[in-house]
Amino acid sequence: MNFLKDSLSIFKKREIPFLEYYKESEDVYTFLFEKEKDLTWKAGQHGLFNITHKKIKNPTRPFTLVTTPSEDIVKITTKIDENPSEFKNALLELKQGMKVSMNGPVGGFYLKENNPSLLIAGGIGITPFRAMLKQIEEEGNGNQEPIQLLYLDSEKAFLFKDELDSIANNASITITYIDSRDNLYQEIERFSTLYNSKGKYLIAGPTSMIQSISTYLQNNGTPKRNIKKDVFFGYK
Ligand SMILES: Cc1cc2nc3c(=O)[nH]c(=O)nc-3n(C[C@H](O)[C@H](O)[C@H](O)COP(=O)(O)OP(=O)(O)OC[C@H]3O[C@@H](n4cnc5c(N)ncnc54)[C@H](O)[C@@H]3O)c2cc1C
Repeated sequence: MNFLKDSLSIFKKREIPFLEYYKESEDVYTFLFEKEKDLTWKAGQHGLFNITHKKIKNPTRPFTLVTTPSEDIVKITTKIDENPSEFKNALLELKQGMKVSMNGPVGGFYLKENNPSLLIAGGIGITPFRAMLKQIEEEGNGNQEPIQLLYLDSEKAFLFKDELDSIANNASITITYIDSRDNLYQEIERFSTLYNSKGKYLIAGPTSMIQSISTYLQNNGTPKRNIKKDVFFGYK
């Protein structure tokens, strides 16, 4: 039932006015849009964003909503390098008041079980976890089961770091910043040994990273049903 509910909203399309964008770091940008009152979502879900102000070849991309509904704004964060796709060039052309359309929000990538949870972000894959952590800060960690975030970035750029640290402090969440795969696997093993089959794993980031972590977990006995993946197609 949840699956149906999380998917059907794909047919719901709305126009959302652009407000502004700003840089988070050298090649990472955050875009802000107005949020209509009746628009809501579960922290971790994504929308399908469509460029409408001009004709481009592939006008749609999925982006995670970085905010929670109670923050009252729609926010997406993405990488834009010196050679942007047509889609990202079109994003950079937006001026205040211009509209994009959004289908959704959709997807089953959110926290729901009362289990110890290990959240694993690779680079830009931090976006759904920023929303989840914010929601826990707002609503409390009802079940009191431990929640740990492992944030891997080999360039140590660590988006939202100050904010994440402040949320983690308020919400009793552990964040470990990691810059090598070896250390990441050590931390995953530590968590798996502590919680065995009770542990849930949510992984978000580039395709190759998610595949290798998921394979590693399953090879070490983690049931497939305990692993949730948010695969950011478009990042290798
Ligand atoms: C659920 C979900 C959430 C996401 N959230 C974010 C986010 O918060 N921030 C963010 O920056 N990105 C996010 N992405 C990825 C995003 O949609 C773009 O793919 C990415 O930003 C690259 O876009 P681009 O326009 O630069 O490159 P693109 O032109 O989209 O493509 C780059 C490369 O990826 C390949 N590619 C593109 N789409 C697919 C596909 N569907 N399957 C296989 N290969 C493909 C292309 O062939 C190309 O080689 C998310 C993706 C998904 C599925």
